[in-house]
Amino acid sequence: MSAAEVLGRYRERIVAEIAGLDASMVALRQVRESSSDDDEHDPEGPTLSSEWSRIQGLLAAARQQLTETDAALSRVADGRYGLCLDCGLPIAPGRLEARPTAAYCVTCATRHAR
Ligand SMILES: [Zn+2]
Repeated sequence: MSAAEVLGRYRERIVAEIAGLDASMVALRQVRESSSDDDEHDPEGPTLSSEWSRIQGLLAAARQQLTETDAALSRVADGRYGLCLDCGLPIAPGRLEARPTAAYCVTCATRHAR
């Protein structure tokens, strides 16, 4: 399977995940609105809030992944996919397998993390 195919499938999965999370947000908002009358006494209140922040966190992560995937796909189009954005050396195949959107080699990624 080519890098473009791997990334294409990866992207489809993320898009589906975002759609699912968006639907959860809509559902959650409806539950919240319908129960807003007695928020103070609603035992579900705190649960809903934590569920809300959990889904928002997942959504933010999924959108970030989507951005990274699109960037990786544009590198495929440029013929620069698999090359580190910093040092230009090839990124280890194992790393790309584990993380198809990787933009930096292990050395540079470690340096960035510091
Ligand atoms: Zn590098």
